[in-house]
Amino acid sequence: MAKHDEALERFMQGLIRRNPNETEFHQAVQEVATDIIPFIADKPVYQDMQILERLTEPDRIIIFRVCWQDDEGNVRTNRGMRVQWCNAIGPYKGGIRFHPSVNQSILKFLGFEQTFKNSLTGLPMGGGKGGADFNPKGKSDAEVMRFCQSFITELSRHIGPDTDVPAGDIGVGAREVGYMFGQYKRLVNRFEGVLTGKALEFGGSQIRTEATGYGAVYMMENMLAHAGESIDGKVCLVSGSGNVATYTVEKLNQLGARVVTLSDSNGFIYDKEGINAEKLAWVNDLKNKRRGRISEYVKQFGGEYHADKRPWAVPCDLAFPCATQNEIDASDAMALINGGCKAISEGANMPTDPAAIGLLRDARIKHAPSKAANAGGVAVSGLEMSQNSLRISWDRGEVDDRLKGIIKRIHDQCVQYGEGKEGVDYFKGANVAGFVKVANAMLAYGVV
Ligand code: NDP
Repeated sequence: MAKHDEALERFMQGLIRRNPNETEFHQAVQEVATDIIPFIADKPVYQDMQILERLTEPDRIIIFRVCWQDDEGNVRTNRGMRVQWCNAIGPYKGGIRFHPSVNQSILKFLGFEQTFKNSLTGLPMGGGKGGADFNPKGKSDAEVMRFCQSFITELSRHIGPDTDVPAGDIGVGAREVGYMFGQYKRLVNRFEGVLTGKALEFGGSQIRTEATGYGAVYMMENMLAHAGESIDGKVCLVSGSGNVATYTVEKLNQLGARVVTLSDSNGFIYDKEGINAEKLAWVNDLKNKRRGRISEYVKQFGGEYHADKRPWAVPCDLAFPCATQNEIDASDAMALINGGCKAISEGANMPTDPAAIGLLRDARIKHAPSKAANAGGVAVSGLEMSQNSLRISWDRGEVDDRLKGIIKRIHDQCVQYGEGKEGVDYFKGANVAGFVKVANAMLAYGVV
């Protein structure tokens, strides 16, 4: 073990030297390298061919200016970026994030993670991620449209159905994908599957909107079934109130769970009666149409609102972090353990920081990492690409069945590579299974 620790430290020192100040990226690589370095220790071919070193350097990063005009006619400038991480097993694939916090470190961590996640789905998709430091909050529809058109005008030079296929992420939903697809189509004069998450009327897939949240719940179902348990009757905490959070709640309700929290960047609500279908429909309207704050929930339905707090101290059986990275730190992990939490499925990307992961592992909490638990979104994006290429559309039942099958296979790969005397280490299982497919493709290509 000490030998692996030394190798990991040497590897991380080099990575940090080459990528200074990119803390989120360092964190994502460390989490993967912790499992991969011991795995490749007795497999010299991966070391000789420098697979891990090559996989921690993106194929390229495109950085560009995005100019647009606000409703008062002022000229505004943002920075756009696309990180094309690795196309060893398929075209680059990954979402676009519009949020003021977007920077190179965050997009590199997301692009790196996406490569392993996409590999786990079993579909032919490489890894990428993009975005801009644009804040859609408080902007009119016309401003969002002008921004999206300007952003995609530049990005259109670098993407295509066989090159790089972006999708949504934080701040990019159906509205933004529609504006970007419309402008792309106008620029290239071709109707092609260049973005996923499109509306059903113009090439979108059934279940894509729901897929990430549903997938996080299917992953939990699989983890519990492996231990002889089920979701029915469990008390659940969900954070966030966007796309992933709301469809996580929808599926949990369908499976008989009681979800008692939702949140946004200002605080969380606690409704001990449960956020049922009627209340959830109201939240969807609040977030997608009125673009309001979650605090308004308690005025409508009662319950408690806790400003500037996260939900993890509420007693629960299961937790689903579905907002953003590093939203569970060591004190949140202790709160979850003390509150009776038995299992966590990560809807958001890298929501748990390294200290929290260690505490949860020591407490033997079943814990599905984001690259496995939220792969449902990109999996259905992959199915959207297939339907676009075949010029057909599958019905809801067919897509949902395929999604369930993909998540089951991801779960089983985690068990294959992660099961040990102390149960399944889902982090190790997902990291190793995701690595093997990409690494073997890279070996076949030689030094490129
Ligand atoms: P949305 O923009 O729909 O919702 C994001 C939610 O998280 C909002 O409630 C938002 O609150 C909250 N949030 C964002 N930033 C912060 C922050 N810094 N602190 C606290 N809360 C925050 O995004 P999605 O639901 O699409 O994405 C959520 C997570 O899921 C992200 O990690 C994303 O990368 C991941 N993911 C998404 C996929 C998808 O298909 N959409 C696929 C795979 C992963 P507020 O409104 O106040 O900003």
